[in-house]
Amino acid sequence: MLGTMMDVPLLVSGILRHAEAYHGDAEVVSATMEGGLHRYTYADLARRSRQLASALARMGLETGDRVGTLAWNDYRHMELYYSVSGSGFVCHTINPRLFREQIAYIIEHAGDSVLFFDLTFLPVIEELADQLNGLKAVVAMTDTAHMPESDILAQKLPDLKCYETLIDGEQDSFDWPSFDENTASGLCYTSGTTGDPKGVLYSHRSSVLHAMAITAPDALGLSANDVVCPIVPMFHVNAWGLPFAVPMVGAKLVLPGARLDGASLYALFEAEGVSSTAGVPTVWLGLLDWMDGHAKEFTSLKRVIIGGSAVPAIMISRFHHKGVEVRQAWGMTETSPLGLSAALKPKHRLLPAEDRLALECKQGRPVFGMEFRVVGGEGREVTHDGRSFGSMLVRGPWVAAAYFNAAAGSAHEQYPGWFDTGDVVTIDKDGFIQIVDRTKDVVKSGGEWISSIDLENIAQAHPAIKEAAIVARPDTRWGERPVLVAVLKPGAEFSRAEMRAHYKGKTSKWCVPDDLIIVDELPHTATGKLSKKDIRQIVLEDPRT
Ligand code: ADP
Repeated sequence: MLGTMMDVPLLVSGILRHAEAYHGDAEVVSATMEGGLHRYTYADLARRSRQLASALARMGLETGDRVGTLAWNDYRHMELYYSVSGSGFVCHTINPRLFREQIAYIIEHAGDSVLFFDLTFLPVIEELADQLNGLKAVVAMTDTAHMPESDILAQKLPDLKCYETLIDGEQDSFDWPSFDENTASGLCYTSGTTGDPKGVLYSHRSSVLHAMAITAPDALGLSANDVVCPIVPMFHVNAWGLPFAVPMVGAKLVLPGARLDGASLYALFEAEGVSSTAGVPTVWLGLLDWMDGHAKEFTSLKRVIIGGSAVPAIMISRFHHKGVEVRQAWGMTETSPLGLSAALKPKHRLLPAEDRLALECKQGRPVFGMEFRVVGGEGREVTHDGRSFGSMLVRGPWVAAAYFNAAAGSAHEQYPGWFDTGDVVTIDKDGFIQIVDRTKDVVKSGGEWISSIDLENIAQAHPAIKEAAIVARPDTRWGERPVLVAVLKPGAEFSRAEMRAHYKGKTSKWCVPDDLIIVDELPHTATGKLSKKDIRQIVLEDPRT
């Protein structure tokens, strides 16, 4: 027997309708590409999104057509999120940090019909112009006064459109259509560290459920009382779902645009009273260093959500000293992204500070809606003792069942019904999961697995070290041995002997890195994570290897 409840589809447009109706006066403050801050409200966002939806309707798009965006976190990108998805089209957020060939591949693979770009990405558009001239429209996200004067575009894309002109011509009379909640709403490609990028096609249902889940207190903990500034870009797994979750709760939204350096972020946080923010560790390193260098403290920031790669203990401590709570989170493009959040339980508050910190360094415990299995060899669940480790599998309503336009079942080769995250983890009796490593990044030394992340955390705690990476170096005796590749703080010195002394007592003797290579800069992937592939290359090219 079925329940007798209403079957109302979960649609992205419903979030905007809610924000407009009940939080219409809450502010959306946005850095702009033209310079300065732009300020309006959710009511304005909703109105302009409807106008843009009318303009899109005139372009002759059909349900399911992909509309690409190459843009930073700003108010026009928010309008695109809602008008494209709300109309039944697919908002394809393209990561501009990818290599040009990858961007070209993605636009082609996604079959984008229309492309919107903000002015910072003009060079990308100029380079790809030949590929784009068959699209229904290419739109510069600016006003007429700032339309790019580009000879290349005048020649190759003479029909380049202006965003504000498109909107100006439209009445505010658009009605959001209703359709099946499983309709595709967004498309995001993985960074493709191995092979070509793969497309993850979100649905309205998955996006709305994910947004509802992340607002929970023990997830990202969002409410109307917050001022939220997503630093994680809207082209990176939908800024972790915040463009949906923040309007859902009616919090003031602050969008940082393109300038993510310490000085700019600090000024924005202080000026707008930001209480909650989210981003990858690299960004926070920049902010904390800048603040220390300028003797600055936060006056409004309460919580920083950090994910995307492991959060060093020292970073958590530095935020604590500034009165800011760190909430580590784990996710992937394929999981929308949130799966784990490291919110402590009441009993953990009684633990000594050191043990609490150790828990906060874990990736977190499952948010409701996501199921996890940790399986060892032969596919058997490992003991939940915080020590035994295995492959982390996940399933849930916001996990990809397959990739966009890829062979069926490609997301689930080995474990039907589950998604293999490629992470090797431990799980304890409270469900706290800790990544030991990426399956492909663990250092396999003499049949034992050494976690590169553990060794990086230890290195990172040394005062001379600015950024550290551990990678495997081939070794005739042991198979692989760990090598530390580090960037030092300005003026600092660090030797191999100091490295050995620093690791002593903090890890098993056989885990201590064999070697140290000091570099000026570590290579990062398009999404700001350490690019282990390139760092392995540095090690291989080192004369001592
Ligand atoms: P994206 O970050 O674009 O989703 P990927 O899907 O390539 O990129 O990255 C997902 C991977 O990032 C995870 O499988 C995990 O290895 C890593 N990751 C995410 N969050 C964390 C975290 N808090 N700590 C350690 N690693 C993390």
